[in-house]
Amino acid sequence: MDGRLTIGNIAASDLADEFGTPLVVYCESTIRARARAYRTAAPEALVVYGTKAFPNVAILRLLGEEGLGADVSTLGELAFARRAGMPGERLVVHGNNKSDDELRAAADADAAFVVVDSLEELDRCAAFGLERLLVRVTSGIEAETHEDIRTAYVGSKFGLTPEDAAEAVRRSRSVVGLHVHIGSQLLALAAVRESVAWLNRFADGLDLTPEVVDLGVGLVVPTQLREATPTIEEFVGALLDELDVEARLILEPGRSLVGRAGVTLYRVGVVKRAGGGRTWVAVDGGVSDNPRPQLYDARYTAIVADRAEAATSGTYSVAGKHCESGDVLIDLVELPEPRRGDVLAVPATGAYTLGMASNYNGVPRPAAVLVRNGDARLIRRRETIDDLLELEV
Ligand code: PLP
Repeated sequence: MDGRLTIGNIAASDLADEFGTPLVVYCESTIRARARAYRTAAPEALVVYGTKAFPNVAILRLLGEEGLGADVSTLGELAFARRAGMPGERLVVHGNNKSDDELRAAADADAAFVVVDSLEELDRCAAFGLERLLVRVTSGIEAETHEDIRTAYVGSKFGLTPEDAAEAVRRSRSVVGLHVHIGSQLLALAAVRESVAWLNRFADGLDLTPEVVDLGVGLVVPTQLREATPTIEEFVGALLDELDVEARLILEPGRSLVGRAGVTLYRVGVVKRAGGGRTWVAVDGGVSDNPRPQLYDARYTAIVADRAEAATSGTYSVAGKHCESGDVLIDLVELPEPRRGDVLAVPATGAYTLGMASNYNGVPRPAAVLVRNGDARLIRRRETIDDLLELEV
């Protein structure tokens, strides 16, 4: 469309005009294609969406249509999955500190599996009649990723030590399988293979033949346009190649389903030259809708939506509107000269963005739309200042 960025056959700037900004635009066909890629790569597996990546009923519903289930880790995520019609047999319940209400809700939902995260939880599961339990084991493997999204290092808050996991297996006949997840945004397949090899050895030494093995997921989502990363086929292929335990497989992809499917649209406001040769382009969102640059050093790129193919005129820094010097969305990006009123699109922002959004500075959280073949439908309405004031007493 004449150098205009389109998503789902709709010009991004038309979406911004219609729904306002910031706006997270999800491409339905991308989400469906990625769900199918998991189902094709592991046809026998139960694939459950890591709901934390973006809890949204419409997206859960369409993933349900693709045969996926949901990995939920709070009462809220469970409620989203149930609202989307996810059947209990496709629910996996996580959490390192499950409340009694959460365990009761898992039982009420007749969830397929509860992933036990401590020995004391094992006893509490029994009290709620939960009988299909997986034990999350901390393998000690340090994934090559940001330290805050490593989950299996020695001393992690997640999972049981190998000794406690073996004790859980001895203690409860309800333990039917094992779970490992070494972290997120995983680029190197070596650590993934190592984790599965570790699991093979661990399972071998147990008094249990696991019926179920849950390998988490954590496949990287590239945030730059031409970044080479493993495909879903390669990632799942590596897991399956290494797995030596005959058991039903569960996979829990989150970011790799929705990360690249989401593009955030912002409206450019102030453009100003600062000292040191820097030019700031300020947008109408920032750390409140996407805290990942601050939390995980996430590096994004950007496109001026109506001049997507124009030559770049320089290097710019994209700042949010919040009262923090660190509210920088993109440190440096080459762009055609941005102007007030331009729509700036930031790709690969569908996972752990809106789901981690806050109301910092009293800013309402953005809306989300789902686009497909020229149609756009609101899947999360924009919060209003009245919504925020309603919480005040
Ligand atoms: N499973 C578990 C247990 C997790 O903790 C996570 C993420 O933190 C996921 C699955 C999803 O990971 P990702 O979104 O990186 O695929």
